[in-house]
Amino acid sequence: MIVCSRCGREMEDTAWKCVCGGPLEVVDKEQVDGGELKGSSLWRYQPYLGTEKRVSFDEGYTPLVFIEDCYYKLDFLFPTGSFKDRGSTVMMSVLDHHKIPRLVEDSSGNAGASISAYAARAGIMAEIFVPAYASQGKVSQIEAFGAHIRKVEGTREDTRKEALKRAETVYYASHQWNPWFLQGMQTVAYEIAEQFNWDVPDVVVVPVGSGSLYYGVYKGFKHLLESGVIGGIPELVGVQPEVCSPVYNAVYGKERTCEKSVAEGLLVEHPPRLQEIEDVVRHHGKLVVVTEEEIGEGLRKAIRMGLFIEPTSASVMAALEKVEPSESRVAVLTGNGLKATREINDILNKRS
Ligand SMILES: [Zn+2]
Repeated sequence: MIVCSRCGREMEDTAWKCVCGGPLEVVDKEQVDGGELKGSSLWRYQPYLGTEKRVSFDEGYTPLVFIEDCYYKLDFLFPTGSFKDRGSTVMMSVLDHHKIPRLVEDSSGNAGASISAYAARAGIMAEIFVPAYASQGKVSQIEAFGAHIRKVEGTREDTRKEALKRAETVYYASHQWNPWFLQGMQTVAYEIAEQFNWDVPDVVVVPVGSGSLYYGVYKGFKHLLESGVIGGIPELVGVQPEVCSPVYNAVYGKERTCEKSVAEGLLVEHPPRLQEIEDVVRHHGKLVVVTEEEIGEGLRKAIRMGLFIEPTSASVMAALEKVEPSESRVAVLTGNGLKATREINDILNKRS
């Protein structure tokens, strides 16, 4: 069942926005029992996701590795090299069930690459709008999967506006709006809890662009709490680049415009779930901002540890410096460095 986060109206399964304009989410009806689960992918949580597995590469259940003083959730080890596959496998399974023949999406790269791969798997035609500045690695991936790519000059926001025009005639499979994409995101909370033997860490740190991961992690832990599997929700720390931090600005009453950042995946000026995310931040966590230099330092640290992540993910490494040390901190590393080798080289060569 899909309901509006703002007015509570029930909508059909393929709706991406409420008639009131509010964002939608899937109601978690099945209680999680925290027992033995079948399968080695994120679809081990299928009974709790509200849909059946149809379009999948048996993805997910990514490693949780303790290095130095933190647990790292290796979400860059998905089929298309980013955590977005969590959302894509669930959303595309629903679209396949409803026989949606074609879709449009806008993305800075990772979500577009992910949805293109799953569209190829499902035989759905995809049209992806990307900002002209998106990494070549991601654009090549989208093109390789046979999706129609539309490059838009200007900001990420300009790309979104162009996609919305197209969405008047083609199904809008937006990773920012779609409630099923969000539903996939909450599997990261299930996995972390299960990897902690159905307990929770003190802190979970995630990057915030549109905030679907941040809100999805919260929704997953909330579901586990309501099911009586865990005793509380961990502190949820979201990270934004200082040069583009609309969620941080909204929560803490700051005003600033959005500029380009090496964390290209986080340049979302108008997150659809801003109101909901603000609420979670106020009750269950905080947001931190990191400078471009700190992101660069974070990337160097990750690579020193053997973790080849993209600059966007390095924002999380930078944020760890601003989070109280504790025995159980989890940092979610969302994107593979192989997608952005040129950008990584630029950062690594800057100081030398
Ligand atoms: Zn509504």
